[in-house]
Amino acid sequence: MTKEVLLGAHMSIRGGVSMAIERANSIHCTAMQIFVKNNMQWFAPPLRQQEIRAFLNHLQRRELLSIFAHANYLINLAATNPQFHANSIRSLSEELTRADQLRLPFLVLHPGAHLGAGEEAGLEQIVESIDRVLTGLPKIKTRIALETTAGQGSCLGSSFEHLAYLISCVREPERLCVCLDTAHVFAAGYDISSEAAMRKTLREFDRVIGRDRLVAIHLNDCKTAFGSRVDRHEHIGKGRIGLDAFRFIIRNRRFHKIPKVLETPKGKDLREDVMNLKTLRSLAESNDEARMANASPR
Ligand code: FE
Ligand code: FE
Ligand code: ZN
Repeated sequence: MTKEVLLGAHMSIRGGVSMAIERANSIHCTAMQIFVKNNMQWFAPPLRQQEIRAFLNHLQRRELLSIFAHANYLINLAATNPQFHANSIRSLSEELTRADQLRLPFLVLHPGAHLGAGEEAGLEQIVESIDRVLTGLPKIKTRIALETTAGQGSCLGSSFEHLAYLISCVREPERLCVCLDTAHVFAAGYDISSEAAMRKTLREFDRVIGRDRLVAIHLNDCKTAFGSRVDRHEHIGKGRIGLDAFRFIIRNRRFHKIPKVLETPKGKDLREDVMNLKTLRSLAESNDEARMANASPR
């Protein structure tokens, strides 16, 4: 039997959160990421009981071995404008609550952008903000998965040290974990384009952050150059990273239990997802080099 690969894509919740389950199922995903509300809005009315039940009891939900959430794009815990910062705190709190109601294990979050205040001040403010949010939600089980970023503009999180610093400074580090985005780390200057480079980057991740923190991988090829710090996702195999990185991730034993989802450009008919998943599954199935990629990383 071929081992079950935890593989899928980010899915739209248009029509209700349970619609994402049907979309994911229609293209045979075993993992998916969703927004818990419109990703370009600060706030939304609470989820209705009926919508929560429809999601939790959906018959096709069991086909998805991993479902997790991504926070909206407006949240910036390092925001320098007091109103934006207050909105960010409230918005993140509400999204964690929604994710918890849907029993999702974690909510992926971009750490924040310091907007000129400087890295140190920005990181400090993010620590305080996370503490405030988590202290305010003592019963919420959904964790925050900090995402590695490309480092575009003043975005923090482009170095593993940033994430390690945040984790080590918050009051409840057990409520934080990490999501690795292949396009972001590549654009941030961590080479993953060959097996040797990938192993080196992973060793660095393990040393600085710790391998147990990793809970999800975003599988995106990168349209922009290595180290460009510009965040543009590309279809798998069509960007600058190349297939070796994806072959390694799909095959390596270390990532078997880690959900891997696409965030590549797509339209409503999911045609592009189908194409990218096909590429990834073919990397998982062809036998050449399988033993090499499965050897335990040093
Ligand atoms: Fe993200
Ligand atoms: Fe991502
Ligand atoms: Zn990105």
